[in-house]
Amino acid sequence: MSGNPLPNPSPASGRGRSVAEGEGSLVTPAKIPPATLAKLAKLGIRHRSDLLLHLPLRYEDETHLAPIATVQPGETVQVQGIVTHNEVSFRPRRTLVCRLQEGDDELYLRFLNFYPSQQKQLAVGKQIRAVGEARMGYFGLEMVHPKCRAVDDDTPLNTSLSPVYPTTAGLSQTILRKLITNALEVLPLPDTLPEPVRKRLRLADFADSLRLLHNPTPDISASTLEDRSHAAWQRIKFDELLAQQLSMRVHHRERSKRIAPALAAQHRLTDALLAKLPFALTGAQQKVYAEISHDLAQPHPMQRLLLGDVGSGKTIVAALAALQAIENGYQVALMAPTEILAEQHYLKLSEWLEPLGVSPVWLSGSLKKKEKTAAAERIASGDTMLAIGTHALFQQSVEFRNLGLAIVDEQHKFGVQQRLALRAKGTQAAKDESRNNGGAEDAEEGRNEPHQLMMSATPIPRTLAMSYYADLDVSVIDELPPGRTPVVTKLVSDGRRDEVFERVRVACMKGQQAYWVCPLIDESEALQLQTAIETHQLLTAAFPELRVGLAHGKLPPAEKAAVMAAFKAGELQLLVATTVIEVGVDVPNASLMVIDHAERMGLAQLHQLRGRVGRGAAESMCVLLFQSEKLSELARARLKIIYESTDGFEIAQQDLQLRGPGELLGARQSGVAMLRFADLGEDEELLDQARLTADELLQHHPEAARAHLQRWMANKHDYLHV
Ligand code: ADP
Ligand code: MG
Repeated sequence: MSGNPLPNPSPASGRGRSVAEGEGSLVTPAKIPPATLAKLAKLGIRHRSDLLLHLPLRYEDETHLAPIATVQPGETVQVQGIVTHNEVSFRPRRTLVCRLQEGDDELYLRFLNFYPSQQKQLAVGKQIRAVGEARMGYFGLEMVHPKCRAVDDDTPLNTSLSPVYPTTAGLSQTILRKLITNALEVLPLPDTLPEPVRKRLRLADFADSLRLLHNPTPDISASTLEDRSHAAWQRIKFDELLAQQLSMRVHHRERSKRIAPALAAQHRLTDALLAKLPFALTGAQQKVYAEISHDLAQPHPMQRLLLGDVGSGKTIVAALAALQAIENGYQVALMAPTEILAEQHYLKLSEWLEPLGVSPVWLSGSLKKKEKTAAAERIASGDTMLAIGTHALFQQSVEFRNLGLAIVDEQHKFGVQQRLALRAKGTQAAKDESRNNGGAEDAEEGRNEPHQLMMSATPIPRTLAMSYYADLDVSVIDELPPGRTPVVTKLVSDGRRDEVFERVRVACMKGQQAYWVCPLIDESEALQLQTAIETHQLLTAAFPELRVGLAHGKLPPAEKAAVMAAFKAGELQLLVATTVIEVGVDVPNASLMVIDHAERMGLAQLHQLRGRVGRGAAESMCVLLFQSEKLSELARARLKIIYESTDGFEIAQQDLQLRGPGELLGARQSGVAMLRFADLGEDEELLDQARLTADELLQHHPEAARAHLQRWMANKHDYLHV
């Protein structure tokens, strides 16, 4: 997909019409300057039809005037008055302040960025209508950056609500409105839903809905539009969800047409590993491995998401899947998002698999060039069957001889592009192989793909899983290994920090081990690092009788490995760490964790961190230290949830309600199926309907399905084929 506007798309490269082109166009390319096209592209508007679905963010009510005397702070209103004062002040910064007078009542208008023309428009004596949110300012009631226009006594009021569109710097509402109005007039707006389906679902007509949202009629109340409960919004939200469901279904179906090596269980290496393990698999582990094993045996690429709470034992399942591929003569890649996690996997899998004659190779970005080349050579030659590492494994210079299975841990931390790169790895290897074999008989040359197993400890509520992962098969480990004692969570305000110090000291003196986690500060890694270093100094000085280690992301890999190994071996009793330990650290003897400034962390992160303790038989505790002053409502709600629940799925469900899905999945994930209008927290019912309708359309109305996808997804072409 081109990120640039296409003022003159060539017929071959343009998918659909550009904003500037298209039959029946009233706006010729000459009329939309390239600068405007670039700004439209920033808003995701590349085709003229995208304008139709660029819907108002909110509406301004200019249908009546509020007397200034009745205006309350917090209200968004339209007022009218005479300018009786106009002044530019320079403190604290250049500001235009005007006083609007209506009888004895007054209201101030304040502008931080303004043009001389604006200042003139608001000259003393002018009659002005201003729309904006009122608030209490220094002089009394004021509006910051209101929308203003000069009026005379009989300037009529608007008769309907005015849409306010999402926009970008330098693109005015007026221009956007003009372009959108034009598109509404020029483009056909056929309903993509077959009439009987639409009627049965009691959905509003598409064209009517669209016109209404862009130009509300006078009888419509602002509130049903603002909270998006109006039938017109319902229709648009339904359409959006339907498009998402359709694209995922289509993708799911296409997968069964693609080709992957069939890797049937041989029970040679896998059974050998099971026989050596000091524990038996839980029922849940057995169940998910059976699902994976079955998928691997198919000649189509598996795309399975393995969900399991922190500590549920996903690693052993991954190891079994890897062995099944390896015992069929295919290579396996195991990737993790951080060096620490990847390294833990490397150590664990080496311990399990070396006795079976499988030696993993380690590949990470921090290896020296020579070591990296050596590792890449072992992978390319097929000398190693298992490569473990960070995203360095995705890089172009790494080629596999015959990659059969790619395992991605903490998959939500990786982006769409990286998943794409992975698939291409298998393709490359298959190409080489068929070339080496003379290749001609292989009609599907270069089409062979690796199976994919994605793992995640981020429990995903049902609506999200259905929506974002409808293209994946999902396995869930819903049971923890036996013998775990639940972690006790304590909320402690910062004022009682000393007590926490003492608790750490006592626990460590008794032979337990503890983590002290420092949070990310203001999104700055540098600041986080500084806090971690200072905390380490502080704790080292406070506890001369303890050995205190320090682990953070900027530590040279060898040093980091040494610290982690020392902690694991029990040589260090206390580990001060940044959130790098969030994933994958496995030290069963560690039974106390202090999370400093816990109020700054997200719920998923807190849950992950807490999962680092309670891995052994000892009673474990997690202390959440928080700053009691400056605690926001949201932070308070988060701490309450994490305090009350230890069930990852329950926590995720609450998190969804608290924050909405975008943040829960992380920005990177959002490319797949970003929803602009529907809200998974609120529109569960619509989602259910959309899911059923997607199946119905694909089965009975494939033309309608195609038209619908074209309308909603033409712009996101690449994402549909991840
Ligand atoms: P996660 O799902 O968070 O990746 P791990 O795979 O790291 O969890 O497993 C957590 C711990 O539980 C490890 O020490 C692992 O060896 C252990 N474990 C895994 N499965 C079992 C089991 N069936 N019985 C006992 N311990 C297990
Ligand atoms: Mg894990």
